[in-house]
Amino acid sequence: MSHTQYLLRFDDICPTMNWRVWAEIETVLVQRQFKPILAVVPDNRDPELQVDTPADDFWEQVRAWQDRGWTIALHGYQHRYVSRNAGMAARRRKSEFAGLPAEVQREKLRRGMEIFEREGITSRVWIAPGNAFDATTVALLPDFGINIISVGYFQFPYATQLFRIADCALPNGEGEQPIRNPQSAICNQMTWVPQQMHYFRPAPSGVWTVCYHHNRWDSARLQKFREDLDHYNANIVSLEDVLEGSVARECQWSAWLCTHPRVSEFLIRGELKLWSWWSAGQKRRQSAEMNAVQLPR
Ligand SMILES: [Zn+2]
Repeated sequence: MSHTQYLLRFDDICPTMNWRVWAEIETVLVQRQFKPILAVVPDNRDPELQVDTPADDFWEQVRAWQDRGWTIALHGYQHRYVSRNAGMAARRRKSEFAGLPAEVQREKLRRGMEIFEREGITSRVWIAPGNAFDATTVALLPDFGINIISVGYFQFPYATQLFRIADCALPNGEGEQPIRNPQSAICNQMTWVPQQMHYFRPAPSGVWTVCYHHNRWDSARLQKFREDLDHYNANIVSLEDVLEGSVARECQWSAWLCTHPRVSEFLIRGELKLWSWWSAGQKRRQSAEMNAVQLPR
């Protein structure tokens, strides 16, 4: 049995996204009964994400996705890149959160979750715009009921222990880490789920999140998406499946990879490339054996 699991993640879900393409994607997902992760922007103010006229029934649709068992993730607050800081797990230096004072970050999280609550959405998953956030963000998330983060180049989900926010001396400026009182009780666990791909590719044992941004897709891209879903169908799972299937444990190596994106992206991409060559070779050998068996005696 294969232990390769793929998760589907769609980013930048907001009232002004590309609804024409989304309708096609949604039809395919419903037909095949996949349960993706949707990164929903609570109050989008990013002009880059304004590609269609706003849908009046946006939150009604989000509730329908939630009722279908799809995972709704908090994708920042307004999706505005206001700081030139990559944070702990991203490469690009632009963020809505990383490097900002704790109180500013807390207020954005509070407003984002307030909108979710008002609209009847429950979420325990964090997906930062540009994947950029810092240790302060991580320390704040449990206060808002969030205990899962989707980010990073590693292979299996892992967990980190969190301390009560009341016991953390939070920093006020860029580059400072929250200071933890060693005597304080660990009260929460954060589960880190990796996100390493932007299209399907053969992969070894592990949890592989394929992240899509559908706003600029054309019909060829949609067709490729449908074909990939057919091809990888048996290995596509939901986030619930992943979390129920195994207990995430602490893993220093995964945590190191997650927080060193330059090195880990290089390593994981190299591993996937080698795996592609190896699995293509396997296929060739198998079909050569089949042909040899079928030869007339
Ligand atoms: Zn985004």
